[in-house]
Amino acid sequence: MTILPKKCPICGKPRHAEHAPFCSTRCKDRDLVRWLDDGYALPGPPAIDEEADKA
Ligand SMILES: [Zn+2]
Repeated sequence: MTILPKKCPICGKPRHAEHAPFCSTRCKDRDLVRWLDDGYALPGPPAIDEEADKA
């Protein structure tokens, strides 16, 4: 299988090591806000953290 380069889950751009797994702090903040919104809206938000998914 071909290992595809990780992309920013927010905008799809190549992610930046400094802001991994996002491309920038802007997308980082956007994801955080979205995650919090989901947390409030749903009783059991799905685990979407790729670190946890790996383990
Ligand atoms: Zn991004």
